[in-house]
Amino acid sequence: MGKIALAIHGGCGVMAKLDLSDEEWAAARVDLGRALKAGWEILRAGGTALDAVQAAVVVMEDSPHFNAGYGAALNTNGKHELDASIMDGRTLEAGAVTLVRRIRNPIKAARKIMENGDAILLGGEAADDFGRGAGLDMVEPDYFTTERRVKALAAMKAHAAAGTAAKASESEKHGTVGAVALDGAGHLAAATSTGGYNNKPEGRIGDTPIIGAGTYARDGACAVSGTGKGEYFMRYAVGHEVAARVSYLGESLEKAAAKVIQEDLKQHDIGAGLVAVGADGSITAPYNTDGMFRGWVTPEGKFHVATHGEVFPINP
Ligand code: ASP
Repeated sequence: MGKIALAIHGGCGVMAKLDLSDEEWAAARVDLGRALKAGWEILRAGGTALDAVQAAVVVMEDSPHFNAGYGAALNTNGKHELDASIMDGRTLEAGAVTLVRRIRNPIKAARKIMENGDAILLGGEAADDFGRGAGLDMVEPDYFTTERRVKALAAMKAHAAAGTAAKASESEKHGTVGAVALDGAGHLAAATSTGGYNNKPEGRIGDTPIIGAGTYARDGACAVSGTGKGEYFMRYAVGHEVAARVSYLGESLEKAAAKVIQEDLKQHDIGAGLVAVGADGSITAPYNTDGMFRGWVTPEGKFHVATHGEVFPINP
C-alpha cells in the first residue's frame, strides 16, 4: 500500500477566542478528532479516499459545532438550505446537492448522485426527493436548527439593520466542513458540505456544490476543499486553480494554495481557507483569517487538530 494522507477543515473565520467558551473550543476539537479518525480508519484498512472523505464529513455534519448538517446556518427567512459536493480524483466523477432542506447528511446525497452517473448537481426539492428515493435518512428541517445559529441570525440581522454587517464576526457569518484524502492506491478525493452563511438570501448557492470552486480532486495533482466567501471561490475557481498551478506551473501544493488564499483572495478582504492533499501525500491548510477549524493525519499516523495558531497533537 502506498502513502495515505488525510486533512479536514471545519470552516474559517475571525473566530474570536471569546466567541466560544474553552469547553466549546475543546468540544469542537474532539469532533475534529472524531472526523479524522473516521476517515483515517478507512484509509488504513485499505479503503478508498472517496469513502474516507465522506466518512469524515458525515461526522462533522452530525456535530453541532460546524456549519453543515446539524447546526447549519440559517438563511434570511430562518430556513436551512444546505449544499454539499464530492469528487473522485481517479475518474473525475462528481456529485453535488444544493438548497436541500431534509436530507440529514447532504454529503451522502452528493455521493449517491455521483454514483447515479447522470446529473452532477441536483437542487432544491428535487434533490430532497432524490435523497428520499435513494433511501437516505430524512429529517424535518428544524432538525438542523441550533440555538447558536438562531442567535447568530438575529445578530446578523441587527448588523444588517445598523449597516455594520461587514463588522460581524466571521463565525457569526459562515463556516463549512470539508475533507481531502489520498488512499493507498494513489487516488485522491475531496468532499465539502455547508449551510452557507447566516442571513444569506433565500435560494443563494455558494461555492461548496460547485465542482472546481469549493471542491476539486484530480489524481496526479491534488484534492482541495475550501471555506470562505463562496462568491470569490467561484470567481477564482479556487479548487481548480490550485490544481492547475500544481499541474501546469509545477508549483508545490503549499505554494499554489498559499498564492490563492494569501494573495488572490486576500486582496478582496474576504475570509478564506482551504485544505489540500497532493498526489505525494503532502498536506497544506492555509487560511487568511484569525483561525480555521482544521486537522490532519501524517503518513506516520500522527493526528493533529487546531483552531487558531496552536496545533494540538491528539490521540482520538
Ligand atoms: N463557502 C461557504 C459558502 O460560501 C461558506 C464558508 O465556507 O464560510 O457557502
